[in-house]
Amino acid sequence: MTEDMMAYCGLDCANCPAHLAWKQDDDELRAKQAAEWASPGFPLTAKDINCVGCKVDAVPKFKFCSDCGVRAYASSRGVMTCAHCEDYGCDTLEGWLQQAGVELREKLEKMRSAL
Ligand code: SF4
Ligand code: SF4
Repeated sequence: MTEDMMAYCGLDCANCPAHLAWKQDDDELRAKQAAEWASPGFPLTAKDINCVGCKVDAVPKFKFCSDCGVRAYASSRGVMTCAHCEDYGCDTLEGWLQQAGVELREKLEKMRSAL
């Protein structure tokens, strides 16, 4: 993974289905991923599954990530990732990690311990 495609929260945008579907113009992947990621409070269709990546200042951006507070905060601080931030463990990041699951937290912790 190149640095630019590592999201602020530690996700790997290069291998994210939304990025791959956009890059490869893959309608089958779009439909599959829309079905997997949709929920009653977050409806999705195949056309929503398109994303250039968290740190790329361009569109399309997947709507969850377009509105992401972690991305807004980390980019305003100019950090490479949340693991590099003095404010690591802030409420904004914690809110996302509680949804995202333990693997992402472990990845950020590992990155921090390697700094
Ligand atoms: S910013 Fe885009 S490519 Fe990166 S994780 Fe979010 S949806 Fe996937
Ligand atoms: S926009 Fe937010 S949730 Fe999406 S990859 Fe970036 S930091 Fe993570």
